[in-house]
Amino acid sequence: MVQGKTLFDFVNPKEYRFVHICSSCGHPHFLKDDNVEHECKNCGDNAGYQVVPFYNPTEDYALDVDYYAITMMYALWKQNVHKNHVVYDDFYRKPPFVRGVGDYRGELGGYVAFGGLDHLISMLSSLYFNEQDIEYLRQQPESFDEAFLDDLRALRFSGDLYSIEEGNLVFPNTPSLRIEAPVWECIWIEAMLLNTINSESLLLTKGSRLITVTGGDVLLEMGKRRAQGRDSSVNGAKMAYIAGFDATSNVKAGKEFAIPITGTMAHVYIMFHESEYEAFKTYADTFPEKVILLLDTTNTLESGLPNAIRIAKEMEQRGQKLVAVRLDSGDLAYLSKKVRKRLDEVGLDYVKISATNDLDEATIASLKQQGAKIDIWGVGTKFITAYDNPALGGVHKIVARSPFHHELKSDGGQYQAG
Ligand SMILES: [Zn+2]
Repeated sequence: MVQGKTLFDFVNPKEYRFVHICSSCGHPHFLKDDNVEHECKNCGDNAGYQVVPFYNPTEDYALDVDYYAITMMYALWKQNVHKNHVVYDDFYRKPPFVRGVGDYRGELGGYVAFGGLDHLISMLSSLYFNEQDIEYLRQQPESFDEAFLDDLRALRFSGDLYSIEEGNLVFPNTPSLRIEAPVWECIWIEAMLLNTINSESLLLTKGSRLITVTGGDVLLEMGKRRAQGRDSSVNGAKMAYIAGFDATSNVKAGKEFAIPITGTMAHVYIMFHESEYEAFKTYADTFPEKVILLLDTTNTLESGLPNAIRIAKEMEQRGQKLVAVRLDSGDLAYLSKKVRKRLDEVGLDYVKISATNDLDEATIASLKQQGAKIDIWGVGTKFITAYDNPALGGVHKIVARSPFHHELKSDGGQYQAG
């Protein structure tokens, strides 16, 4: 294996669509068709082959469509107008997360932070129907013409994409992204485009609102366990990082997108040990550079805090510093003020306070108004699920088409505007 490469860097499944596995020696041959009349280049035999479709499962997007896309593509193909060029714009009508203020119930300050472009481009550039997709469509009761399935086999996204950059703000009824392409390609990509842009823009917007309210404080994304599925947990962590979060707890997202990862301990670590002090001590011994102690397992002010102070003082004697303590329940404004005061009194003014517990931009703003002494914010459920507004209604609409014109050439030549 070559470092950092996969099979798909060497064998392109858009071209080599079948693997012929030699019945004699088991050697795999990557070929463009399923015609088995060839000799094995490994053993010279042609006793037979097991033929299986070959494709890259990490780039399996062609059927990420609503079925009407396929039926419309077929009907357009039947009329031979499927390659007529059209222009599609993407925009949304109503901004998310907007709440009434006072007696005013209209929309104030709504915006969307545009996200998902990087992901979309990667999908469009890897888009092809693999042999299993073709076979699945062949089995449908519509009985698609074999020539249509052949054209799908050769189909790639050939259009032009114009877009604002990921992370920029977009306002209602203003196009953020434009596609110019043959009409059947625009129809093909509609659902995957909207799914990607809507979901990632929604989370980028939520992340941007959290960044606005936390100002310069440290902000951490920890929504993995509450996200609606694996993809949204990873994509959400990416959107959080683009929005300006400092790190994520999601290790997969960290690896995939080079996002800093963070995490220390949960209640289980403390409950597993004989005492809270012993749990803190073993953790501090293991990771002396990055200790954040969770205070609320039994009693935040009566047990967690005194034990954390004892650990911090022991660390000082070894020339080490406790990084932070974490509050995960209770009245975070009240507790953080108490903890801050006590830490300062014993000379631990460098120890930061982190807080987690169903936080969103409204609760963080409220905590700040109450004078909470929190330096590090961890947000999970309410960020990753876009809890108070879980969908963005962006649309992909045709805004122009070339004159309705049947293609002149049958060999794939395109209509020329004139
Ligand atoms: Zn062989």
